[in-house]
Amino acid sequence: TRRALTRLQRLPAATRDGTAVSLQANLELPFELPMIAESGAHGIGLLRSEFIFMNREILPDEDTQTEIYQNIVEAMDGDPVTIRVLDWGSDKEIEALSAYMPLHDEPNPALGLRGIRLLLRHPALLETQLAAILRAGAAGPVRIMLPMVSLAAEILATREIYDRVWKRLKRKGVRMAAQKPPLGIMVETPAAALAARQLAKYADFFAIGTNDLTMYTLAADRGLPVGSKLYDPLEPVVLNLISMTARAAAEAKISVSLCGELASRHQAAPLLLGLGIRQLSMHGNAIPRVKRAIRAVSQTQCDDMAVAALAAPDADAVRDIIREA
Ligand code: PEP
Ligand code: MG
Repeated sequence: TRRALTRLQRLPAATRDGTAVSLQANLELPFELPMIAESGAHGIGLLRSEFIFMNREILPDEDTQTEIYQNIVEAMDGDPVTIRVLDWGSDKEIEALSAYMPLHDEPNPALGLRGIRLLLRHPALLETQLAAILRAGAAGPVRIMLPMVSLAAEILATREIYDRVWKRLKRKGVRMAAQKPPLGIMVETPAAALAARQLAKYADFFAIGTNDLTMYTLAADRGLPVGSKLYDPLEPVVLNLISMTARAAAEAKISVSLCGELASRHQAAPLLLGLGIRQLSMHGNAIPRVKRAIRAVSQTQCDDMAVAALAAPDADAVRDIIREA
């Protein structure tokens, strides 16, 4: 009921034995903001900035972008907003961008120029977006996130551009965040997960994107139904990559969240806690159910579940482990 939900909104997301979990919201379109405010989310863990470029004839300039980000930051009232720079390419189509930079005709767009790979080839687009985010940072805490990272060199190249933009705005006396906002990465390719210990030297935080991580690890399109038995984020091999990434982040003392669709499945939440995840970002609607699932278990139970799941033969066996627990 609504009253139960309102009460739940004020209760902490913590296990019975006191492991605190931070629950954040994914934002795709600004109209979702009121729903997110009601959900009890502690900030936005993934703002998919693609929407800003959609349904427009011309590209949004720096001022336009600044205003959009600023409104969101203000609506979140002091809670952090993690803005992912444009993740274009693969299956994500954007008209205004197609006019500006036609996508190459690639034999397999999911394995071609996409996300940060594309932005580094169009640095003007990246610079505009970074400048807008820095300016919105004057209104509250923001974090910058890079999509589709597979190599350390991509983070370093982005940092160079980021430093340049920061210095330029500072020199011009533009109002922006007092401290340089953190620059983190999505861990959504097997390369990034396998190199997590190295990438943690260059990234201020990690966000695991299980939608793409599952696709690229299992070589199975994310559009395939779970029933196909090909695409399933609960496959132990995917869980192992999540666990590796969480351990690398803990060692390097940087934060790690998980923001793919898996984060919104309340049945999976205890398992994710067992894998070392303490921060989840999901569709705002899912937050109350996930919180309830976390409050019903102990960390010890979660840890046992994770040990069993990591050694399980397949996703069906993992589902059995979750059901029995
Ligand atoms: C993901 O890949 O899991 C993710 C969160 O990003 P997107 O779904 O936008 O590709
Ligand atoms: Mg992704």
